[in-house]
Amino acid sequence: MANIYYDTDANLAHLEGKTVAVIGYGSQGHAHALNAKESGVRVVVGLRRGSASWAEAEGAGLEVMEVADAARAGDLVMILLPDEVQAQVYREQVAPHLEEGDALLFAHGFNIHFGQIRPPEHVDVFMVAPKGPGHLVRRTFTEGGGVPCLVAIHQDATGTAKARALAYAKAIGGTRGGVLETTFQEETETDLFGEQAVLCGGVTELMRSGFETLVAAGYQPEVAYFECVHEMKLIVDLIYEGGFERMRHSISNTAEYGDYVTGPRLVTDETRAEMKRVLRDIQTGKFARDFLLENQVGQPTLNAGRRATASSQVAEVGARLRKMMPFIGRKG
Ligand code: NAD
Ligand code: MG
Ligand code: MG
Ligand code: MG
Ligand code: MG
Ligand code: MG
Repeated sequence: MANIYYDTDANLAHLEGKTVAVIGYGSQGHAHALNAKESGVRVVVGLRRGSASWAEAEGAGLEVMEVADAARAGDLVMILLPDEVQAQVYREQVAPHLEEGDALLFAHGFNIHFGQIRPPEHVDVFMVAPKGPGHLVRRTFTEGGGVPCLVAIHQDATGTAKARALAYAKAIGGTRGGVLETTFQEETETDLFGEQAVLCGGVTELMRSGFETLVAAGYQPEVAYFECVHEMKLIVDLIYEGGFERMRHSISNTAEYGDYVTGPRLVTDETRAEMKRVLRDIQTGKFARDFLLENQVGQPTLNAGRRATASSQVAEVGARLRKMMPFIGRKG
């Protein structure tokens, strides 16, 4: 069983008199900065001069400065930049300003686990990773709740790393939901595996294959899209709310019977063997090396993937059908 911490296990006093520098103001950055500020913590935001987010963060009442200045001002420095730019920004603009007893924080373990960032021994290094996108971290906090987080300690120079990690998690609302203890290795490897094999790679390839199978058999693309892509949300929402059991209770017995007999025909021993190889590539660092090289050569695989997606039939049909449903994405 995992160690789980709640509000009463965390003490904001560990942040008293300290400045938290949030580097980056994207999905996670805006949520961490605003939540921590409203929890009474002194927050500064570090951005590139000329960044579009600069005015936005200032408009939200935050103190904004260039990354190096924020790193200098911060006693705790939370890196909320895209994973592929973190190492360079860290080297050039953060590392020179890490003083003895400072803390370096992450929301994902990639750069520490794969050795792209090697902090000095005199700072704490830990992770506070919300298990949800930034807008949810922000919205739940304003509603009095919080998205559960993972915490992990990579380096405890001060002897207070865990107390400070829990305090930070409390400041962003995480301990209201519950904070699970993990390691940089576990968080990094499971996060990469989940998004590749299941959440992103697995799901989109399954949807597209189903869509293309129906279209190739002569069914109308619009109908195929509804059945194999669009309706996924309804199923996922049921699983999100109540697990497989709620979903299977809610669907027809016909659908439930088909679920039991057909699912295992598609995800076979061969698929599971491939999943193990995918995990192996993550564990050995092969995936990390490929992704880092990808970014050094101008992201050819990302560009090709985006081009192929944009010109695909499934994208064209989806765009047309969403026009019939202007209610999608509208709040309330
Ligand atoms: P994002 O892309 O939404 O935001 C990145 C921010 O960094 C932006 O403000 C951008 O302007 C800024 N930026 C980019 N390059 C920069 C540079 N060279 N110098 C200064 N600023 C620069 O990123 P995100 O999704 O919030 O991810 C941040 C971290 O949080 C990552 O480690 C990610 O793995 C982790 N994380 C993300 C989520 C999520 O749902 N988005 C969930 C948990 C953890
Ligand atoms: Mg400092
Ligand atoms: Mg993840
Ligand atoms: Mg991820
Ligand atoms: Mg149906
Ligand atoms: Mg049923």
